[in-house]
Amino acid sequence: MDPTQQRSAVQLQSRPVSAGNWTEADEPPASEPRPRMSTVRTVAELRAALALARRAARTIGLVPTMGALHDGHLSLVRRAREQCDVVVVSLFVNPTQFDERADLERYPRREREDADAARAAGADLLFAPSVEEMYPQGFATTVEVAGVSERLEGEARGREHFRGVATVVAKLLCSALPDAAYFGQKDAQQLLVIRRLVRDLNLPVRIEALPTVREPDGLAMSSRNALLSAEERARARALPAALHAARAAAEHGERATHAILAAARDAMRPFGVQPEYVALVDPDTFEPVDELAGDALLALAARVGAVRLIDNVVVSPAASARAGERSHRTRPAPAATHTSNRPQAEAIATCSA
Ligand code: AMP
Repeated sequence: MDPTQQRSAVQLQSRPVSAGNWTEADEPPASEPRPRMSTVRTVAELRAALALARRAARTIGLVPTMGALHDGHLSLVRRAREQCDVVVVSLFVNPTQFDERADLERYPRREREDADAARAAGADLLFAPSVEEMYPQGFATTVEVAGVSERLEGEARGREHFRGVATVVAKLLCSALPDAAYFGQKDAQQLLVIRRLVRDLNLPVRIEALPTVREPDGLAMSSRNALLSAEERARARALPAALHAARAAAEHGERATHAILAAARDAMRPFGVQPEYVALVDPDTFEPVDELAGDALLALAARVGAVRLIDNVVVSPAASARAGERSHRTRPAPAATHTSNRPQAEAIATCSA
């Protein structure tokens, strides 16, 4: 850490706190600017930068990312800013979760722009470790979450994918020891894997999930969107079109999974995009559902050119189809952040090819 960074990290930690006797003088003026965001590159620096904040019982929020930050990531940072005293954004393109070398190599990397965006969204600390810092010589431990990580993305990308995700998230959580960590519903299966990991290992952190942020035409924001050519970007609208069609079929009373999936596939065809998978699953287990009896998650993956994209949406049975039913499932409250497993229903723009 250079001396300027060290100074601002210390400022961050040493705001006045009186011992159980809060007085007006102790309270920082409302207009006090936050100290500049610092960048730290080692776990030791991260812990040192957070030590005083932790001792002063200031709450810490962590937003793990692989960078190339967009509004989806920044919605997590902003929420962390609202809820926590200290906001840490991690920036690490984790090689162990990539199943394709080419995907890892072309993954967009732009730390300077990311630092500016994270700071503007309210981050206090950027943790941008090297691969060697995260996986030093002799690194031998991995975390594997059975069950929820085995289907869909686990099947398509191999078990190394979620093993890589679970291991790096466990390392990030153990390094920053945040009170809360923020994740996007965009990666719904990853979110479920992380919730399972946190529960199974009794990690003392609250997992906050936020809804998917989309482009005006419905395409979910993703760092990989930057890799699409103009023609591919237009064809990528196949994904939100499929989600929209599945939702519309359910809203019109369709309950048979095969028919809902057929509606999704049909909607992709005019864009010349084939799904790698499209599935209707239980949001709590990612097990397939045969019939839409309550809220389910329509999850899909597709390649547009060389770029692999994923997306998902909550699909609910039509109100008329549910009438008179006694279902244990309830619709989630329309709050922006949610700590339960249950993803939120969201609107998706209509797209046509
Ligand atoms: P990534 O950098 O792709 O690993 O994503 C970091 C975090 O941002 C994960 O929790 C993602 O689920 C979340 N995220 C990615 N895209 C979006 C989006 N469009 N809306 C909301 N959250 C997102």
